Amino acid sequence: MQPSKRISGILGGGSDGWDVFNKAREMIAAGTPVVELTIGEHDIRTAAPILQDMHRSAMGGHTGYASVPGVPALRDTIAARVEAQSGVPTTRDNILITPGGQSALYTAHFAVCDPGDRALYLDPFYATYPGTLRGASTAPQRIQTHAEDAFQPRAADIAAEAKGARSLLINSPNNPTGVVYSRATLEGIAQVCKDHDLWLISDEVYDTQVWEGDHLSPRALPDMAQRTLVVGSMSKSHAMTGSRIGWIVGPAQIVDDMINLAIHTTYGVPGYIQDAALFALNLGPDFEAEVAAPFRRRRAIAQKLLAGQNAVSLVPAQGAMYLMLDVRSTGMSGEAFANALLDAHHIAVMPGESFGASAAGHVRVAMTIQDSAFETALKTLCAFAKTCRIDE
Ligand code: PMP
Repeated sequence: MQPSKRISGILGGGSDGWDVFNKAREMIAAGTPVVELTIGEHDIRTAAPILQDMHRSAMGGHTGYASVPGVPALRDTIAARVEAQSGVPTTRDNILITPGGQSALYTAHFAVCDPGDRALYLDPFYATYPGTLRGASTAPQRIQTHAEDAFQPRAADIAAEAKGARSLLINSPNNPTGVVYSRATLEGIAQVCKDHDLWLISDEVYDTQVWEGDHLSPRALPDMAQRTLVVGSMSKSHAMTGSRIGWIVGPAQIVDDMINLAIHTTYGVPGYIQDAALFALNLGPDFEAEVAAPFRRRRAIAQKLLAGQNAVSLVPAQGAMYLMLDVRSTGMSGEAFANALLDAHHIAVMPGESFGASAAGHVRVAMTIQDSAFETALKTLCAFAKTCRIDE
C-alpha cells in the first residue's frame, strides 16, 4: 500500500539540510564531545514556578478535554497583550490557541490556501517552512533575499511573484539570519499584500528577542489586520519548547474556521498546559527579558569578538537566538566550512545552505550554550576561518 503523495512529498526530495547536525549527533553518540551551536533551544529549562503551576492545574483536575479554541482567560490575556503591543483592537475572538507555533503555521496556511495555491515565502527560511507549506497542499514558492541587503526582503522581488499567489509568509525577528525587518521593509511588504490581495502570515515567535529598537507587527500597519495572521508561541519567549503551546491572531471569521480545523485535528491543547501558559504570561515582561537575557549577552560577546578580526563577518544581529556569519572569505560554501569546522574542532554550526540558497557561504550559530564556552567556540571558529582564508 502506498502513502499519499501529499505525505510522502512533505520533504520534497533532496537533502533536508541536517547532515552536519546528524554527523555531530553521531560523533556525540560515539563518545566524542562536540560543541553544539545548531538548534534553537535554550540552555535553560522551563522555570520551576511554571512547572509547579502546571502541576497544580493537573492535580486540580484540568486534565479532561479542554476548550478547543483555548481557555477564555488565556485567549483574553493574549488578546490584551497583542493589543497593548500593536495598538490593534483584539479580543479573544481573534485568538486560537494551538499546539505550538509549528501547528499554527500549518493551520494558518491550511486556512487561507486551497490545494495548489501558490504560497510565497522568503529565502533564507526556517528549515521546516517548505515542508509545512507542502503538507498543507499549497504550491510553495521561494523568493530570494540578498546578503548585500542584510537579508531585508525587497518589496519589488515579492511583487514580481505575487500575481495570482494566495499568501506570503514572513518571519521577523528572523530565523536563521537574526535580522529584524525594518518599518520600511514591513511597509513595502504590506503594500504588496494589499496590491495583490495576499494573506500575510507573520511568524513572530521571536518577538521577545529584539536587541535593538522595538518589535513591529505588520498586523498593526494600515488596513493589514483583516489580511494578516500572526503566529505566536511560548516556546522561545518563556523557554517552554516542550509544552507545545502557541497561537494564531487573526480576523474573527477565519479564527472560527480554524477552530473547526482544530476540532477535527488536534482537539486543542491540554488544559494544564494552557493554565501554565497563562501563569507564565502573567509573570510579565521582566520574566521574558530574563529568558532573553543570555542571548542578548552572547550577542554582545560576539559583536565584540568579531569586531577584532576580518575572517568572518556578522550579518546585523538584531534579534532571535542566532548569529549569521558570512564565511565567504574562506572560499568555502557554508556546508564545506561547517563540515571542516566539525572535523577539525568538534564545533557544530548549521550551514547557511540548510536554510536556502540566499544564505550560501554563511553559517548559522545558535547562541545556546554558556557564555564562556560560547566565546571560546566563536574564537576557535574565527581562528579556523582565518587559516582557511583564500588570501592568507
Ligand atoms: N517559527 C520559527 C521561525 C521557529 O524558529 C520555530 C522553532 N524553531 C517555530 C516557528 C516553531 O516553534 P514552536 O512550534 O516550538 O512554537
